[in-house]
Amino acid sequence: MRNFYEDQNIKRKVLIVEDEYINREILGNILMEEYDVEYACDGHEAWEKLAPSEYSLILLDLIMPVLSGSELLARIKNDPNLKSTPVIVMTSEQDAEVDSIRQGAADFITKPYDMPEVILARCERIIKLSEDARIIRSTERDTLTGLYSREYFFEYIRRIDTYIKDIKRDVLVLNINHFRLINEMYGRSTGDRVLKKVADTINEAFRSSLIIASRPVADTFYIYCENDGKEKGIGLLQEQLDKTFPELKLRLRAGIYQDADMKIAPEDRFDRAKQACDRIRGDYLSNVSYYDKEFHVRSVYNERLIKDVDSAIKNHDFLVYYQPKYNITGDTPKLCSAEALIRWKHPELGMISPGDFIPLFEHNGLIQKVDNYVWECAARQVDEWKKKLGYTLPVSVNVSRIDLFDPQLEEKLHKVLSDSGITEKELMIEITESAYADDAAKVMEITEKLRSEGFKIEIDDFGSGYSSLNMIMNIPVDVLKLDRSFVKNLKKDEKSLMLVEIVIGIARFLNVPVVAEGVEDEDQIKTLKGMGCEIVQGFYFSRPVPAEEFEVFIKKEVERNDNN
Ligand code: C2E
Ligand code: CA
Ligand code: CA
Repeated sequence: MRNFYEDQNIKRKVLIVEDEYINREILGNILMEEYDVEYACDGHEAWEKLAPSEYSLILLDLIMPVLSGSELLARIKNDPNLKSTPVIVMTSEQDAEVDSIRQGAADFITKPYDMPEVILARCERIIKLSEDARIIRSTERDTLTGLYSREYFFEYIRRIDTYIKDIKRDVLVLNINHFRLINEMYGRSTGDRVLKKVADTINEAFRSSLIIASRPVADTFYIYCENDGKEKGIGLLQEQLDKTFPELKLRLRAGIYQDADMKIAPEDRFDRAKQACDRIRGDYLSNVSYYDKEFHVRSVYNERLIKDVDSAIKNHDFLVYYQPKYNITGDTPKLCSAEALIRWKHPELGMISPGDFIPLFEHNGLIQKVDNYVWECAARQVDEWKKKLGYTLPVSVNVSRIDLFDPQLEEKLHKVLSDSGITEKELMIEITESAYADDAAKVMEITEKLRSEGFKIEIDDFGSGYSSLNMIMNIPVDVLKLDRSFVKNLKKDEKSLMLVEIVIGIARFLNVPVVAEGVEDEDQIKTLKGMGCEIVQGFYFSRPVPAEEFEVFIKKEVERNDNN
């Protein structure tokens, strides 16, 4: 069986914990030839040394100041990372020996140390026993590829990190795109051949003095190797796959955490590389992604945003802006509603746009709190305008896919209405088309319920999702909002123009109006109007603005109505 120490020609590390100088010296001299010996003068110092390092054996004196040997032994045996490190206790009292064996010590040596050969033999035996036990426990290799199992791999890394200090290392996570499909279409045995080929090629592709690999799950490979340009290796690996399986059109993707920080746990280092690898899932342009400083900065930033949500709600750092929607069917555009859009005025980080925090909060559920806050503000605003300007302007709010699965959604919306005194018709609900992809039946059930209570439902970003025609034709909805990418490309490509026509056709079939989003110029308005689009929203009329600024639009509308 392959053994790390013999492999790498390295001496095992042994820690002697003994408060008496002369005893330390004698023991040290006996073991020095065979082992890499380190010392600690009391239990406390030993504990400090144990955490970051890995020792093959601890020789422990039972009676010491500060933290006694028996206390330290108890700590070691209670620590999941340390408990498998063997401990030999050194004492001159018979009773204590028996006690410490009961506590988990592997063996004992009696003082004075007058039989060096016996001591050496005991150490050697205990180390051998413990290493064998560990290897058996962690079933060293993956049977399919012959690579290390996850558990053994990380154990091996800990040893490398303890003994080899002078080499910088890279952490790589490799994955095969759509591997599941390959299993499904070509059978598992083909899938297995692919995995084996990757495993067999790793060493050849990444020529490195230090390299170990593992296949922790399915089609994921972990590689730990010396730091230098890794993209060439990934290229070579890809080449080999193309050559061996030309019909499969395999595509590897890799996440690399370069020059990894040795102070963080190996599992966490691989987690970083995996994050980088996950980031390019489904991205056909890139096959390598680095866990870089930017990535790190981003996750620190995200943590900060998550931490600050509650105080932002409390201190009103979330602002609600309003963007007008105009009906363009007549000669002059008529203000018909507005969309409430959130902004974050962070006291230290400045203005943050929703694209930077909405997806993050959707990911961890915080969006529910934030959305509820926006609904409350928007509803209060509708009521305020009604009272102040004598004009009722319905406002749409965004309801995230996460909100839809909240069993208290209806209750929350009704509370918002009753607190502000507005009606269901005045608070319209935008739900993005892609929410239907999660669970169409459930979303339809919820939206149908809301509609039966009087709410108006708008399907947001329509056309950007991949809803089936069958679903679309049965969707309970009041307005379709055309995704702004179509409007943007109206002039550029025929396809967008055709898609807009299709969407408008669907809207006619459903007998609902279409809102075109992202309208920025006169030409776009003309084209959309010509095609039968009734309502537009976009920078052409106004960017989203604070409520006070928005009042101008309402006042103009009131004036216009008075003149007619
Ligand atoms: P959305 O719901 O599709 O909102 C429309 C976005 O288009 C807004 O971006 C708006 O500023 C932008 N926009 C409007 N007209 C134009 C135009 O003429 N040109 C261009 N280039 N863009 C235009 P914003 O405010 O940055 O919001 C981005 C997204 O964040 C929203 O997309 C929505 O999905 C989300 N969001 C914003 N506020 C909320 C909220 O309160 N709750 C939830 N759940 N999501 C929100
Ligand atoms: Ca929206
Ligand atoms: Ca939209």
